[in-house]
Amino acid sequence: MTKAETDILFQLKNVSYTYTAVNTPPFAALKNINLTVRKGEFIAVIGPSGSGKSTLMHLLGIMADPTGGELLVKGQPAENYSADGKAVLRNSFIGFLFQQFFLLPQLTVLENILLPSEYQAAQEVHRIGEKRAFEMIGRFGLTGQEYKKPANLSGGQRQRVALCRALIMNPEVLLCDEPTGALDSQTAKEVLNTLAELHAGGRTIVVITHDPEVARRAHRIVRIADGQIISDSIQSKGADYDHVPQLPIQNGTAGAPTTARAEHVARVLRHMFVPTWQALQTQRLRTALTMTGLLLGVSSVFIMLTLTGRVSQIFEDFFATQGSRKAFVSFDGRLAERTGAPRWRGLNVITDLPKLNAQLKPLGRLDPNVETGGCKILSPSANIQGSLTGLNSLQEVRENDLRIATGRLPLPHEFESGNPNRIAVLGSDAALKLFPEKAAGEEGGNHSPAGQNIIVRGCEFEGILRVVGVVKPVDSLFDRDVNSTIYLPATTLLAGGSSIYKTHFTAVPSAGISPTGFAKHVIGKLSVMTANQFPFRYFAAENELEKFNLMMGILTGLTLVIGGLCTLIGGIGVMNIMLVNVHERVQEIGIRKAVGARERHIRWQFLLESTGLCLISGCLGLAVGIAASTAAFFVARMFLPQVENLSFTPDPVAISVALSVSLGAGLVFGTWPARKAAALDVVEALKQE
Ligand code: ADP
Ligand code: MG
Repeated sequence: MTKAETDILFQLKNVSYTYTAVNTPPFAALKNINLTVRKGEFIAVIGPSGSGKSTLMHLLGIMADPTGGELLVKGQPAENYSADGKAVLRNSFIGFLFQQFFLLPQLTVLENILLPSEYQAAQEVHRIGEKRAFEMIGRFGLTGQEYKKPANLSGGQRQRVALCRALIMNPEVLLCDEPTGALDSQTAKEVLNTLAELHAGGRTIVVITHDPEVARRAHRIVRIADGQIISDSIQSKGADYDHVPQLPIQNGTAGAPTTARAEHVARVLRHMFVPTWQALQTQRLRTALTMTGLLLGVSSVFIMLTLTGRVSQIFEDFFATQGSRKAFVSFDGRLAERTGAPRWRGLNVITDLPKLNAQLKPLGRLDPNVETGGCKILSPSANIQGSLTGLNSLQEVRENDLRIATGRLPLPHEFESGNPNRIAVLGSDAALKLFPEKAAGEEGGNHSPAGQNIIVRGCEFEGILRVVGVVKPVDSLFDRDVNSTIYLPATTLLAGGSSIYKTHFTAVPSAGISPTGFAKHVIGKLSVMTANQFPFRYFAAENELEKFNLMMGILTGLTLVIGGLCTLIGGIGVMNIMLVNVHERVQEIGIRKAVGARERHIRWQFLLESTGLCLISGCLGLAVGIAASTAAFFVARMFLPQVENLSFTPDPVAISVALSVSLGAGLVFGTWPARKAAALDVVEALKQE
């Protein structure tokens, strides 16, 4: 290319532009335009209103493509540039100045000026930043206004802010559409002087104007009417552009080497949370309502996950004390009756049971249920109906969670057969009934029934027992009489007349062996011992726990479905508000695109915004959830003091589920509005009020 050719910034060849919109006939705003803009020119485009000047500026600004002819930008056909390539040109090759200023009202002066720098190409080594913005602010007399919002500035100040923004990226060309149209004559003159200075500094300027004063200062005047150029003349001064000193465009103040990563993170966070904060200030009710939907969804998921998890845990612990590690094996009398099988006399616990236990040895053991009901029991002060329960070993005492309240438990040797001590330990209710005066703590007596005798008669067992202790109350799901029975060593019970043939047993598996499996194994052995004559059955609390866990699982699943629906509804609310947002901020999107935002910048901006909105709602939901759970457990502790460990610690899984759900909702429900925003047409968007 010759020097003259490399000097050409824009070249329009037979360019036309026709507006086509639904419901309106096509309108040809530009027809067969031929125009060349060279480096260093100061061109005024003048013409009556509606003649196509702004349309021409949109073409030069690469905000719209010609509908006919060819536009070359820096020697390249405009259509050869990708959408991102065009954004880069708008960002750093061209600076725009509009009659309406087009500042973003929610940003400060400084932020407005820095707006194009947010979209500078990432690979730029010297990033344009605040340092340069402050230089511009000083140079254009805006010192002290940095942190004001545009609404608090005069028209002239606003246009100077817009000028700073147009120049911050050091563009080669400044495109101005009636820059003085909204200013009084004095301010207009200042802006004009600035343009002249910039031109003298080597910048190329194209200014669209009505103002004869502006036209007088330009070196070349292009007159346009009805979409056609009617004259194109160098001013009388006869400026010869080949001899205009081509001043280098200053390049020095580009700023410090990049701290791009930190800046990037700061920008991401700003885009995430600042808009929600601003919306909360300006659109309080609307934003709060939107957030409430998601907040409820997240908090309900959290609460239910926490409660079901904790309740399951509590029940599991409880079941463990209720013999979920055991099974009950017995002769199935009912089935025997139905099938005509004979009645089973029972297993001889003195001779046959030890043999059976020897066979069962490594897997577990079988304890006989040695007990008798319907006894008359007499104490010095009472006469009650009661039952006796035989204990087979100290181990069984521990497994049944029997803990002493007063007195003592049976001693190891008292379990041996032939032991002469006839001792008893009372259940808590039995003690109350047999020794009411002891329980009430009457004057003079010692406060324990220990040492007293009781007499048993009227059942299999007859005789006198010496009370040695009272056990603490026990919770049992399966035995309602557990506290009103009287415990004694099984050997004592057998020696005192209870039958040595037993039909009911407790199967206690060794650690790691399933109670159900062990019970089945025991039944197999019993059947073999009794020549398959009798039916047996078993009951394992373990199976009840499984049923309970299944129920809790179903409950949790339902909760998650309901919570999911809440989140869905909340998310749709967020999507709705984001769509409204995009709709209300069309002009902002146009401005951002005009200063160089690429589609992905806009997309991410709105996506981050919806994610931020959802994350804030999610965190609030989490706070509500934690507060509600804490309160629920507090109330539960008051009403259920007997349940141990009824306290609340936030479950990290529930917390991360809640947070990821809100993050996911932001991304999912923000995508469509963000895409809609990114796809907006620059020129159409700028024209929106
Ligand atoms: P100027 O800036 O010189 O006043 P414009 O370039 O804005 O003129 O508009 C040129 C012509 O194109 C005007 O007659 C205007 O009515 C028309 N025009 C502008 N925008 C549209 C549009 N979006 N759809 C249809 N016609 C349009
Ligand atoms: Mg116009």
